[in-house]
Amino acid sequence: MPHDIEISPMRADRFRSLLPPDRFAEFERGTQEARDLLGDRVVWNVNSTARGGGVVELLRPLVAYARGAGLDVRWVVMDGTPEFFTVTKRIHNRLHGAPGDGGPLDEGARRVYEQVLTENLIGLEGRIHAGDVVILHDPQPAGMLPALKAAGAVVIWRCHVGLDQPNDLAREAWAFLRPYLAEADAYVFSREAFAWEGLDSDRIVVIHPTIDAFAPKNVDLDRQTVAAILAACGVIPRADAVGPAGFRRQDGTPRRIERRARIVEDRSLRPEDPVVLQVSRWDALKDPIGVIRGFAEHVPLELGAHLAYAGPSVEAVADDPEGRAVLEQSIAARQDLPEERRKRVHLITLPMDDPEENAIMVNALQRHAAVIVQKSISEGFGLTVAEAMWKARPVVASRIGGIQEQIVHDESGVLLDDPRDLAAYGAAVAELLADRERAERLGRAARERVRDRFLSVRSLLDYLALVQRLLTTPSSSRASRSAVA
Ligand code: UDP
Repeated sequence: MPHDIEISPMRADRFRSLLPPDRFAEFERGTQEARDLLGDRVVWNVNSTARGGGVVELLRPLVAYARGAGLDVRWVVMDGTPEFFTVTKRIHNRLHGAPGDGGPLDEGARRVYEQVLTENLIGLEGRIHAGDVVILHDPQPAGMLPALKAAGAVVIWRCHVGLDQPNDLAREAWAFLRPYLAEADAYVFSREAFAWEGLDSDRIVVIHPTIDAFAPKNVDLDRQTVAAILAACGVIPRADAVGPAGFRRQDGTPRRIERRARIVEDRSLRPEDPVVLQVSRWDALKDPIGVIRGFAEHVPLELGAHLAYAGPSVEAVADDPEGRAVLEQSIAARQDLPEERRKRVHLITLPMDDPEENAIMVNALQRHAAVIVQKSISEGFGLTVAEAMWKARPVVASRIGGIQEQIVHDESGVLLDDPRDLAAYGAAVAELLADRERAERLGRAARERVRDRFLSVRSLLDYLALVQRLLTTPSSSRASRSAVA
């Protein structure tokens, strides 16, 4: 059965301190207009997981700030069977241009897919009314679109993944999903290049993903707090750690770090070790094995650096059945390294039982890192990049997908032309470890770029502008291809 995720409203007032006055005024105007237009309509978001991955990161603040602005915006997580998630992960991988498990997207897959969606639609019956707006996120709920349109809703399909140069595998996933999407009122992509061939271009909209500066994942932390959190979760144990490490939940209540990370390592990280960090799910498209080998083979030992690859505990991410195998392959790749190199590599799985506790650990890790990498093979947007940039970290990342929107090469980070070139990746990391002045300069510029373009208030306004357009313009006369971003 689909279930609601309760999100407490958050007031956007605190953005006053982060944004120039004209930008904040624009936000206030936009939300006022949306309140007037929406009245008692509900805006529903439907996706397939409440934990793990970028979509969840995006949805939380959007729903919370929209609710804080007095809009009835909700979030429902659909249910699925393991067979369903095997099919949708296959679709996900192919949308990224990768074969995934290599299984078919045939009539059998379609039956598995549709059966689950029919059950979810039954679970939603009577809740979504004509005139409501529904945003379906990613391939998992896409097949609900025709039924929701028939019920009179305005339905947007939001696709968070894509690739710059589509291949036949991607086209196969498009062909699977296309029949469900014909009647969508709009298709939202993270980047112009991700828009599929053959969709009605008048209905394509680009909205860049954004991060929440005040969430536990991104909120400012001083050095002492960072050290206390990393000690408490066991990543950098300290003999001198005094008292428990605490943080503040988003609803303002205090909370302690109670869980520990599981770490595959020969010895613990020490406070003085320069850390090169990638934070990602255990997914082959994030290339953990390339991250490990490239670091071990191409970052000179004498720089003293350690690599930390941190991902979620593999039990936690319901819609990602490949996590465990990729973690095991990563452990094996580490094991294969010569001892001196292996000692420098730490594989960390972070507890996911409490998303805010997990987030504060990621935040502390990112703030502690000397260099942050995102050496993905394919990436929709890459929120981890914006998160690292907001923390003024120097980032080395692949020149792919939405990472290119975020980093301007050599101004606000370093882009790697070929994500599979391990030598170039190692050299870029080594250079930043050695030249701290350049690293700091890139980090400072990175933070300003995120302030300017990638904070949640921006994408909330973009969505509201889209909803406003859909509700006020008859579908037959909607303006041609408009990017609200
Ligand atoms: N993330 C997390 N805990 C982890 C690993 C990842 O909270 O152990 C978060 C990460 O901080 C980011 C999101 O998951 O906010 C991943 O989003 P991204 O767009 O980088 O990749 P996706 O997982 O959506 O492919």
